[in-house]
Amino acid sequence: MKIDCKRTVAELKELRALTANENGAQRIAWSDMWLKAREWFTAKLDGLPVEHHYDAAGNHWITLAGESPRALILGSHLDSVPNGGWLDGCLGVMTALETLRGFAKAQNGRPPVTIRLVDWADEEGARFGRSLLGSSAFAGTHSIDADRGRTDKDGIRLEDALRRCGVEIDRFPEARREQAHAAGYLELHIEQGPVLEGLGLPLGVVLGTKGVERHAITFHGQEAHSGSTPMAVRRDALAAAAKLALEIRGIARKHPDAVCTMGSVKTFPGIVTAVVGRCEATLDQRDLDAGVLAGMFSEAREASERFAQEERCTVEWSRIWNIEPIQFHPALVGLCEEAVKETAGAAHRMPSGPLHDAAEVARAGIPTVMMFVQSLRGISHNKIEDSKEEHLETAVQAFGRLAEKTAQWILGTSSNSVR
Ligand SMILES: [Zn+2]
Repeated sequence: MKIDCKRTVAELKELRALTANENGAQRIAWSDMWLKAREWFTAKLDGLPVEHHYDAAGNHWITLAGESPRALILGSHLDSVPNGGWLDGCLGVMTALETLRGFAKAQNGRPPVTIRLVDWADEEGARFGRSLLGSSAFAGTHSIDADRGRTDKDGIRLEDALRRCGVEIDRFPEARREQAHAAGYLELHIEQGPVLEGLGLPLGVVLGTKGVERHAITFHGQEAHSGSTPMAVRRDALAAAAKLALEIRGIARKHPDAVCTMGSVKTFPGIVTAVVGRCEATLDQRDLDAGVLAGMFSEAREASERFAQEERCTVEWSRIWNIEPIQFHPALVGLCEEAVKETAGAAHRMPSGPLHDAAEVARAGIPTVMMFVQSLRGISHNKIEDSKEEHLETAVQAFGRLAEKTAQWILGTSSNSVR
């Protein structure tokens, strides 16, 4: 299959010129700039033997019919955060397009399986705080009532912003119809972290997306005068929280890919002349293994109780949010490793810390895998987000190989899994 990886890099630059300003990409979902990006993308379909339409959640589907209706889906998202980078999301969409072109050409316009490209709507959740909106509607994990009334910073309701783009939130469940015949899903994305750069490798094989446990932790002590209260009798809520902030590092380090973060600490009364009577902290814990995640949660909880006792305080926990780890499909992980090795020489298996649309697709039971390309400095969601062009080109080649291998795999798998 012939893949023109330089064309993909050129098109990404074209998109950047069209939809970024001096602060970076401005393709915020449901905005005019996003619609402009989608219109630009649609023009790229001219001359290809494809059908395209938007589903009930605003996801854009492009279908190249194959000999078999069983479909290999390639996707990512064109939307960006405000002041975003030139690769997050759109790299995956433009690489999927190049792969689709390759299939259209190599097979005389009729590949052995159906090839579908999807540009997911509102992956970032930048405006309404709800990530993976379109892909969760596709997966059937979306709960309309929880999101209908969300507003942006100007008070505009999510429901109304979507309607302006021709999408009715009440029709979201209809997006599940796109699951028909889905037999595999592939997504290329920038790593958005420093691991591959540290290893000196261009590409990574993604094992899945980490599960997240996110909690609010409040330590209660006793507010007291900072001058008159002897050290021995203090009930310092910050001291207990501070011990926990250090302890979670050791809890995470027992596992190779686990992370624990105390991202927010607020003290009350929060003045220079008072012992802290109440300390509100947050804890975010992530790992790809559900057992590791559950273990880290209970260890942190036990430690917080121990530190509360040591400081003569009490502690309460309340869950802010959680999601289970999503493991990608073992057969597709194997194919991805082959494709990466054949193209780049060495492959590294790694979990994804950030969530991606691929996690929602996997939750729908569709065999899924992702490929990562190295990010420079590990920085993303920022205009300085970047990857080496040679790495981007290698990624496009490797993704094309992975798509070919997966199409063959779909042909070879039993018809039991026909959806
Ligand atoms: Zn992204």
